[in-house]
Amino acid sequence: TLSDRLAATFKNLRGKGRLSDADIDATAREIRIALLEADVALPVVKDFIASVRERARGAEVSQALNPAQQVIKIVNEELVTILGGETRRLRFAKTAPTVIMLCGLQGAGKTTLAGKLAKWLAKNGHQPMLVAADLQRPNAVQQLQVVGERAGVVVYAPEPGSGVGDPVKVAKDSIEEARRRQHDIVIVDTAGRLGVDAEMMQQAADIRDAVSPDEILFVVDAMIGQDAVTTAQAFLDGVGFDGVVLTKLDGDARGGAALSVAKVTGRQIMFASNGEKLDDFDAFHPDRMASRILGMGDVLTLIEQAEQHFEAEQTAKMAEKLLKGGKGNEFTLEDFKQQMLQVRKMGSLGKILKMLPGMGEMKDQIDSIDDKELDRVVAIINGMTPAEREDPKIINGSRRARIAKGSGVEVGEINQLVDRFFEARKVMKQMAGGLGGMKGGMPGM
Ligand code: GDP
Ligand code: MG
Repeated sequence: TLSDRLAATFKNLRGKGRLSDADIDATAREIRIALLEADVALPVVKDFIASVRERARGAEVSQALNPAQQVIKIVNEELVTILGGETRRLRFAKTAPTVIMLCGLQGAGKTTLAGKLAKWLAKNGHQPMLVAADLQRPNAVQQLQVVGERAGVVVYAPEPGSGVGDPVKVAKDSIEEARRRQHDIVIVDTAGRLGVDAEMMQQAADIRDAVSPDEILFVVDAMIGQDAVTTAQAFLDGVGFDGVVLTKLDGDARGGAALSVAKVTGRQIMFASNGEKLDDFDAFHPDRMASRILGMGDVLTLIEQAEQHFEAEQTAKMAEKLLKGGKGNEFTLEDFKQQMLQVRKMGSLGKILKMLPGMGEMKDQIDSIDDKELDRVVAIINGMTPAEREDPKIINGSRRARIAKGSGVEVGEINQLVDRFFEARKVMKQMAGGLGGMKGGMPGM
């Protein structure tokens, strides 16, 4: 898998922070192979690697992760971004019925999806109606009727032998019927061909114009691999679509089609179909698909854990110093500032403070701390001389006035800061006495 490959590439680099150009080149090669193996289309692979390269160059040196982990993290983030970040929800019409039209090649899984979607919507309190606008294949109507029965929803279809062979008319009439029977959602199943052809596109476009869908979903078989790009592009040009549904994800496809379609069309993948049963259906999860494309799941968990562990270690070190006090090793304003900066770098102050023992009861106060205030405190301390930082007791009235002027704040703020500093130092000493050090590590870690 990619993670093994990257680990091998970086075997001699463990612990080294910054990624060199040579490292990035070697990495790019491995990612390229992995993506092509996952059946991602070549132009998409190229684009993808270019953006990963860029991010890797600009990446801040992580002390928590080794180079392989850093790259994997970047690759994963980039994949999730392209695959759509947060999942988009279906758009509903202001006035019912909401019309959802399905398009895609024959065998993509449209009819099956129609049933899955209908069942899912019905479970969520809707009254969907299925519409058989695929009159191409002899059994298409009957297939939808079976699916509808299994889903427990109404199917609108031309009477057998009625001679109605116009899918555009069926689709159009169905909307009227849905209104009359008070269905709030109409799902229009359409015909597909084995390959893209002009007649099929035209029919889909005509149906689209007849029913003005609120959502057109492009249904695509995940096993289609490299062809996904041309097929998706053809449907985008010929019919247009708002969202994508990936089917047959229960197969062994690595999901390269997902990346290709998302990247080339810019449309969100909304649902994932993963089996023949109507319940084999779920919202699409970009993060899961990213792991699948990379052929790794637990590596990402390990990365997360490494980062959390590092954060915990830093916090423990900081806390130790905080709690030391006394013994001629007094906690100074300079230490205070360093900690502010550290905290700022590590993310939310509140999150970190809450990891400190004994801070649980102070939760509300911690939540009210403003990160901007942190910056102001740092600015004020910057305006002090080293001697003042070392021994804050010498900061008298005239020094306060000077510092205030220098850092552009009121003298009152300096007073507040100094008072709070002494108060905090007193509390810390008390805590240090009570806790007797933190050698045992952090609670809950
Ligand atoms: P359509 O031509 O686009 O309407 O495709 P169908 O819905 O008729 O599906 C074609 C075949 O794929 C059928 O045999 C379905 O049972 C099967 N199928 C559809 N979706 C899935 C899926 O998610 N997983 C699997 N394993 N089979 C599927
Ligand atoms: Mg069908």
